[in-house]
Amino acid sequence: MQKVSVEPVPLGKHMGYDVRVLDEGATLQDYLAGMEEAIEKLPLTRRRCLGNGCRGCDACCGERIPLTSIDLLRIYHRLSRDFHQQKGFLSVGISATKASACAKGLAQAKFSLETLAWHQALRRYGYVVAEGRKVDIIVRTGEDGRCVFLEPHSRLCGIYPVRPLVCRTYICCPQTARVERLRAEVVNLGEDQLVRDWLLDAAVRGAQPDFHEGYVAAPARDDWPPTPFAEKRDYAEVLLKDVCSTKLWQQLRS
Ligand code: SF4
Ligand code: SF4
Repeated sequence: MQKVSVEPVPLGKHMGYDVRVLDEGATLQDYLAGMEEAIEKLPLTRRRCLGNGCRGCDACCGERIPLTSIDLLRIYHRLSRDFHQQKGFLSVGISATKASACAKGLAQAKFSLETLAWHQALRRYGYVVAEGRKVDIIVRTGEDGRCVFLEPHSRLCGIYPVRPLVCRTYICCPQTARVERLRAEVVNLGEDQLVRDWLLDAAVRGAQPDFHEGYVAAPARDDWPPTPFAEKRDYAEVLLKDVCSTKLWQQLRS
């Protein structure tokens, strides 16, 4: 049974969308499944794309891409697994074109993940900015300022099946206020957990937290309490009602 409904709604002059939660037990994965279907099937306006929808468009791949704790684990394990199997990303749900671009991206990467630890994966794929007690952890960008996972020639995502939550929940069309709030709340909470994990990992190793940019950096673990993302490895393990504020949850259920 469908637990989250993503429905097209006219908003101004464009076709946008709304999200409703149909089941108390809906998870973040149910929301993502609804978004995947919307991206593929709904007749939504693409305000930033001049071509044929999302396929081959990279207009949104040069922005700030915050990472969640689950995003980093999924990217790390996927790259690691595919490195060992030497298969590339031949996953269910993506086109042959995208799969081929992903495999090519992996071959081009030419790095060994055999001994890469969690904090090294974060250092390699992520970008940590610490300013005072604030911390922002985003996807690393290349010299061109574009996401490091973007395939430069095909303009396709090189990690499409495991791309971050913020990418999976974005379509450049209008959306209702509750949809904007939902995306912001879940992405922010997931990033908060990653910051906490980053601090905990450093403490366990007896090391200072490792960041790429720091401005009078003084991150403190007390500022980053555990979230409902703690110890979760997959979005199917996270209940939507646990990661939404009470007000948002009521709106999504109405
Ligand atoms: S959502 Fe991103 S990839 Fe899709 S059409 Fe809009 S800008 Fe392009
Ligand atoms: S992870 Fe993929 S979809 Fe997300 S910004 Fe990078 S290339 Fe684009």
